Formats: sequence, structure tokens, C-alpha cells
Amino acid sequence: MDQAERLLQRCDELARVSGLESGILRAYMTPEHLRANRIVSGWMQAAGMHSWFDQAGNIWGRYPSADAKAKTLIIGSHLDTVPNAGKYDGILGVLAGIELVDDLNKNQVQLPFHLDVVGFADEEGYRFGAALLGSHAIAGNWKPDWNQLTDRNGITLSAAFAESGFDIEAVADAALDSSNLLGYWELHIEQGPVLEDLNLPVGVVTGIAGARRFELIVTGQAGHAGTVPMDLRQDALVAAAEVIQAIETLAVENKIVATVGRISAKPGGVNVIPGEVRFSLDVRSENDQLRDRVIVMIEDQMKAVCERRGLRYQIEETHAAAAVRCDEGFMNIFSTAIKACGYDVHRLVSGAGHDAMALASVCKVAMLFMRCKKGISHHPDESVTVADTAVSLTVLKQALFALVESLSIEARS
Ligand SMILES: [Zn+2]
Repeated sequence: MDQAERLLQRCDELARVSGLESGILRAYMTPEHLRANRIVSGWMQAAGMHSWFDQAGNIWGRYPSADAKAKTLIIGSHLDTVPNAGKYDGILGVLAGIELVDDLNKNQVQLPFHLDVVGFADEEGYRFGAALLGSHAIAGNWKPDWNQLTDRNGITLSAAFAESGFDIEAVADAALDSSNLLGYWELHIEQGPVLEDLNLPVGVVTGIAGARRFELIVTGQAGHAGTVPMDLRQDALVAAAEVIQAIETLAVENKIVATVGRISAKPGGVNVIPGEVRFSLDVRSENDQLRDRVIVMIEDQMKAVCERRGLRYQIEETHAAAAVRCDEGFMNIFSTAIKACGYDVHRLVSGAGHDAMALASVCKVAMLFMRCKKGISHHPDESVTVADTAVSLTVLKQALFALVESLSIEARS
């Protein structure tokens, strides 16, 4: 069996490690998490790595350089999932790292750096509501107040650590020394339709969009749907509708993405004029300044609409993350490798968050996106092909050799 086939077969095997009776769910610090880690650890060892769990529950494998003092390149992604997930989001990138090492090991290739493959334990943040916990831990950015986060059953993160045999007081020890890191590479399914639309197996990620999220509240006056004339109403839902329309227009005009994904109206009766409406707003761009300018425009629209209609409003920010740029040198290495495989190079932004965001605070990062069917992810219909997987493995392998070459040129000059 070739490597791409084996990789996808292993995705099938991991899909059976789930906390749900039907469908995939692997949440942080659960028996499934530990079982998946043990399976992956076995594959790492079979590929010629030594393997260990860190204090945050991430699984690692190392293909060591002959030079013990050499720096480290990390390749990986995450092994946790959302509920009713697909088989490839995250997992693909971890298993690709293992296949890469297996190939190096079989051909007895010595690298001038340690190659570490990591399976991050909690990228999705499903169980405790805070994402990227595994990668934040190794970046040395664990926040002690996370220890008290609780899951749906009231179990604290610190209790979940203890139940799984980990000590949350030791989680800071998972942090890596950034001066030893060459960088972080991640292969991930695109989770969007762009590569499929361009008929390309892979694409080079230029950066990860920074998201800001808000809760917007419009307050008007509830009233009887039959007795209050139209011109005397303070309908909060109609005002919200107008604002949502403006959000779409502003996003299109400024070439960013903005989404209202949740809305609720009170009192919520079919014969009652809505007196209060709450809706969410998620705004993303790879350009933080542009994103922030559009947010100011949205706030201005909210103010104008509510003033004209005699309503009150409130805007609360609930989340903010800065955009992350991928390393130009790594992007060029990936681009050259893609061209060598006979494909056009397409560069694209990641609208979704990834572990690379957390790693960017300690080392240079790069991501390669692989086409997935219809761009579907976080769903059982997530689908990839053996052929695209094979191309991704070849691109990563060529990129790895190009990195070795560029480091030796650097060393000679
Ligand atoms: Zn993912």
C-alpha cells in the first residue's frame, strides 16, 4: 500500500475512536483523546520516532538529528474534533508528518535538524470553550484562569486533567524554548471551496485571518401586532435586519468577511412587535487595520439606524484575535515544491483559526492547504482523495529537502 492510502486508512481507524456512539467526537482530556494519542504514538514509533506525551496532553514524536544540539522543525496539526466531525480536519496534518518521517527513516536520511511531529490535544475548544489549548501550552501562553473553565457537566479543566492522569500545575512545563525552533509547518484541509473551484490539489496559506466577535443588542418597544400603527413602532427586529443588510454590503465593498450567525428576538411571539433583539457578529480579515476600519463603519451604521428609528443599542466585544502572517521564506519553499509537482501555485488566506496561530508567537509558521470536497468540514461528509493526499505528501517532502538545502547554503555563507 502506498503512503497516501495508508494515511487515509489511518484516518478511518482514528475515526472509530470517538466519545459518541455514532459520529466522531474527540474532546480534550477524555478517554478518546488518550486512546487516539496512544494509537498515534504507536505509528510514530513504527516510523522511527521516539514518542512522548507533554504536560498539556499533546502527543509528540521525534526523528532526531545526529547533532543533538540542532534546532527543531515541528510538523503537525490537531487530533481533537468537534461533535459529529469529519475524519480529516486536523488528523490529516499529524499523519502526514508521520508518513514523511517514515519515508526519511526507510531511506536512512539524516536531517541537520530534529523533526518533531505533534498531534495537538485541543484545537477546536469544544469541551471547555477555549480553543488552541494544546498549542498555547507549548507556546508558553497558558492562562492560569483556564484551569477553572468548566465543561457541560460542571467538570473543571483542572479536574479533567487529574482524571486523565495529568497535573495542571505542571502545564507550564509543556512550553518550548523558542530559540531552539526552526519553525512550524501544518498541512490542513482547506475547509473552503477555493481550491476545488480552481481545480488545484493544494494551496499555500499566506496568513490566518484575525477574528473579532461581538454581541449586538437593539432595544425598542414591544407592543401588540394589531393595535400599534406602523409609524408609531420601535421594532427592534426590523432595525436589526437593516443593520445586518448593511454589514453584508460593507463586507463585500471592503473585501473582508463578516457574519451574523445567531439572532434572537424578544418577547418572541407571532403577534408581538419585537422589543429586544440580540445578534452576533464575526468579522475577519488577514489585515487587522482594514478589519477594524470596517467594524467602525458597522458601528456607525448601527448608530444611524437606531437613531433614525428611535431605538437604543449596545455593542459588546466578546473575542479578539490578531491576524497571523505565514513566513515568506517557507511560503516560497512550498510554492517551488508545488510548481515542481506540476501545479499552479495559488496563495490563499485561512479564514479559520489553526494551531499555527498559537505557534506564531514563538516561531515562524507555514501552512499548506489541501483541497476537500465542496469545502465541507466539521461534518461527516468531509472528504479528500488519495491523489490529493499523495500530492500533499510529495510537496511536503520536497519542501523539507529545500529547507535542508537552504540551511546548508546559509551555513556555508
Ligand atoms: Zn482543524
